Amino acid sequence: MNVSRREFLKASAAAAALSMVGGPCLAAGKDDGVDKWVKGVCRYCGTGCGVLVGVRGDKAVAVKGDPNNHNAGFLCLKGSMLIPVIYTPDRITEPMIRRGGKSSPLEKVSWDEALEFAAKPFRDAAAAAGPSAVAYYGSGQALTEESYLANKIWKAGFKTNNVDGNPRLCMASAVAGYLTTFGKDEPMGTYDDIDAATCFFIIGSNTSEAHPILFRRIAQRKENSPEVKVIVADPRRTNTSRIADMHMSFVPGTDLALLNAMAHVIINEEMDNQRFYNRYVNFVDNEGKPTTFENYKSFLADYTPEKAARLTGVPAADIVRAAKTFAESSASLSLWCMGINQRVRGVWANNLIHNLHLLTGQIGRPGASPLSLTGQPNACGGVRDTGSLSHLLPAGRMVANEKHRNEMEDFWGVPRGTIQPKMGLHTVALFEAMAKGDVKAVFIHCTNPAHTLPNLNKLTKGLETAFVAQTECFMDAETLKYADAVFPAAFWCETDGVYGCTERRYALTEQAIKPMGNCRPAVQILMDFAARAGIDPKLFPYKNAADIWEEWRTLSKGSPYDFFGITRARLKKESGIKWPCPTETHPGTRLRYVRGEDPLVPADHPDRIFFYGRPDGKANVFLRPYAPPFEPADKDYPFVLTTGRVIDHWHSATMTGQVPELRKAYPSAFVEINPEDAKKLRINNGDPVTLETRRDKMTFPARVTDTCMPGLVFCPFFDKKLLVNKLFHDAVDNASREPEYKICATKVYKQA
Ligand code: SF4
Repeated sequence: MNVSRREFLKASAAAAALSMVGGPCLAAGKDDGVDKWVKGVCRYCGTGCGVLVGVRGDKAVAVKGDPNNHNAGFLCLKGSMLIPVIYTPDRITEPMIRRGGKSSPLEKVSWDEALEFAAKPFRDAAAAAGPSAVAYYGSGQALTEESYLANKIWKAGFKTNNVDGNPRLCMASAVAGYLTTFGKDEPMGTYDDIDAATCFFIIGSNTSEAHPILFRRIAQRKENSPEVKVIVADPRRTNTSRIADMHMSFVPGTDLALLNAMAHVIINEEMDNQRFYNRYVNFVDNEGKPTTFENYKSFLADYTPEKAARLTGVPAADIVRAAKTFAESSASLSLWCMGINQRVRGVWANNLIHNLHLLTGQIGRPGASPLSLTGQPNACGGVRDTGSLSHLLPAGRMVANEKHRNEMEDFWGVPRGTIQPKMGLHTVALFEAMAKGDVKAVFIHCTNPAHTLPNLNKLTKGLETAFVAQTECFMDAETLKYADAVFPAAFWCETDGVYGCTERRYALTEQAIKPMGNCRPAVQILMDFAARAGIDPKLFPYKNAADIWEEWRTLSKGSPYDFFGITRARLKKESGIKWPCPTETHPGTRLRYVRGEDPLVPADHPDRIFFYGRPDGKANVFLRPYAPPFEPADKDYPFVLTTGRVIDHWHSATMTGQVPELRKAYPSAFVEINPEDAKKLRINNGDPVTLETRRDKMTFPARVTDTCMPGLVFCPFFDKKLLVNKLFHDAVDNASREPEYKICATKVYKQA
């Protein structure tokens, strides 16, 4: 498909109208009535837009885009409507406990009583059953200082590696993809590449709804330079694909074959860049063992465009055209998100995207880069960089590596041997262990697993069984049903801390207003809780979040994540800084791994690119075969169900659901179904349609639309009345342990 200029302008204007707000957007009061504007970061997605919060008296009254941040003053609708979320009557403002077990009501108590009530089960569990009987489950929405602190308290204080969180559900495959290909996590590219790219390869990402401000930038790039090509590979014909020159609608779960077929074309048509890969690449087999380019070429013989076309449903000519466009453009930028990550072969899919860049040399130049889009606002900075997952330690260190453990033990001032050598439980295993009684107490921070876990009927048993202490801001959160103790946390601009978004950019949210009611900053809650749970307070000698940042920035010094130069004082002045940034005068890094750009590459290094995550400075091209999804459609369950976001809601809608305009735009979930399928099943718009999987069944109103290809149905996951994750299995990628939310088999029928 070639998009005409007229069609493109129509689609991008529609998208812009749907999603964008430029300049001040007042939620209450008037711009001229604002006493001061306080700098911050949007509370929602991984785009990480800068905001300015307007304060009048002691109230936040307005929000607008920060003109000095990457979003150039623009916000999407949900970002521009953050103010009513602060003042919703649904806010939790007092600590609460359940004295009589899970079925008793939550009652308001003092902070002292709530903290002691929560700390005792942790003390008892650790004393009776050892450190692995307690756990922390965190969030890519928590501030960096909160995640760093919790990681330290659990790994060095409780001495358990049972530290995981919702980034396991969204970004773990991207992390493992970067690690296996480049030796270190986090991308080399940045948003600036959008302005220089001449080919966008967007796969497994509905950027227009999940990252609207980035989509705006992509659409603007194409509008200004019509020769720029946009290729979208996605089984759904989303709004993102409507601005594309080519939409490859592949059969769900066949993207590994599609990516290998593109590599096949690139080599067979001699569009590969031998000078580049001879110098910067190692070819490795599926086990990571060295192999040769010739073996790689033979391996790809199985992925001719014709063979791949039969499997993927994408015409062979389109595969050839996409490969040529990618390889021959002056700068190709790949963008991907959950469609690639939330898969049982998500890590392989990440590797295969990297392969395309390494084969063609489309990397390490402005506009030429792989750049995974992050789902949450602080999954990168807060969780990945601080190592707040069960297998990680801060700044790229690994739990399994003795040297790394010792470095952290020395830095944290705890005896050698304190950090356990075995990785802790990943998310699905953690909730299984809670159900079995092996993990007896969990601290849940800033996330809503009773809504967002896969296979909910199974995994919420963990929440029914274990003692649950939870920080939460809103009564609407589904997980509250299972909480034994609830700590009211200060929300967003009621406190301060750093977010790190997709592009290695760290930006500060400053405190604009006082916490509501009896709410407290989460770092305070974590320290008060830990002290009562028996953790030595010497481990957390901080007055506030700024002290924690100071420790974390010092720890990064000399590491491959070096951001020692990003002080709080600089963050107050500047609208985000991209690491590496080793000194206070360094401006931040646009192109990672590139000599003359990345300060961690020596100025006299003989090579222009140095992948310093690996000892030999080279990246891996992997021979990864096609593998099917865990549960493809079959004769009993003949449709594929997939899930995702809608533009107006954020995750489980505990925040966006508080805003009447956003609620009205999407009051409930629905099921999208292709017109051909709808005709066969006699389904009309609005009809009640039941999806029945091997786990559960659920009825949604129908939306008959060509967005879904025949055989595919889609439901958004924001609606707590229709918890679509009950329908999903909980199979995980065996390297990243990320669940496959994107594909399960389902029956579809009209409810009588
Ligand atoms: S694109 Fe994301 S970060 Fe930017 S305003 Fe919208 S929700 Fe917030």
